Amino acid sequence: MRDFTLQRDMMIREQLEYRGISDPAVIAAMRAVPREEFVPADVRAYAYEDGPLPIGEGQTISQPYMVAYMTEALELSRGDRVLEIGTGSGYAAAVLSRIVAEVHTVERIAGLAMAARERLDRLGYTNIRIHVGDGSLGWPDQAPYDAIVVTAGAPEIPQPLTEQLATGGRLVIPVGLNLTFQTLVRVRRTGKDDYSREELMAVMFVPLIGAAGWESR
Ligand code: SAM
Repeated sequence: MRDFTLQRDMMIREQLEYRGISDPAVIAAMRAVPREEFVPADVRAYAYEDGPLPIGEGQTISQPYMVAYMTEALELSRGDRVLEIGTGSGYAAAVLSRIVAEVHTVERIAGLAMAARERLDRLGYTNIRIHVGDGSLGWPDQAPYDAIVVTAGAPEIPQPLTEQLATGGRLVIPVGLNLTFQTLVRVRRTGKDDYSREELMAVMFVPLIGAAGWESR
């Protein structure tokens, strides 16, 4: 089936709304971003399948439901400034950019970052800035952020990320001492030195590799 608009509508109904995604801004953003433009040509036909897909360099574009769930969990407002760690294809950054004022996204693999930049420029996204570097250390230049989302699994919550949250800010991150299986955690900065932590669900992500993540092998 080549009608991507129809497939996107079905994805929203069957994968998102049916499983409880209800924030109208998240649904609208998932409807606005053409996922088929963010996957390699050889898997384009599967762009709206209910799972992750390979994007090269051993990395993946996350399952649509996971992108929507994490975006909803960030509790975003229009004026927010958001930091994403793990640009990958640029898809999640594009979704975030439809909801908030400004998105900064960090990718450690330069080739993926360049491809994402070219793609987002071509598609006309103007409020996303892509940075190449070790996102386990955040992106201090532009801190603080109202929300930070990490799309790779960390052994523990990287302290630089919690430090770069604004008061009231939310961090959503997969955490666990296993390279494949993690728990999705939401950290809320409630005061200068105060944080609360909630466990949201069991997830599977590629590892966050960096100084405050897993060691590169
Ligand atoms: N958000 C992406 C998308 O929409 O396509 C999916 C990201 S993929 C599941 C995880 C990404 O995190 C990979 O591209 C990987 O290279 C990147 N990554 C892993 N460790 C990183 C780090 N320390 N800093 C920045 N990016 C990192």
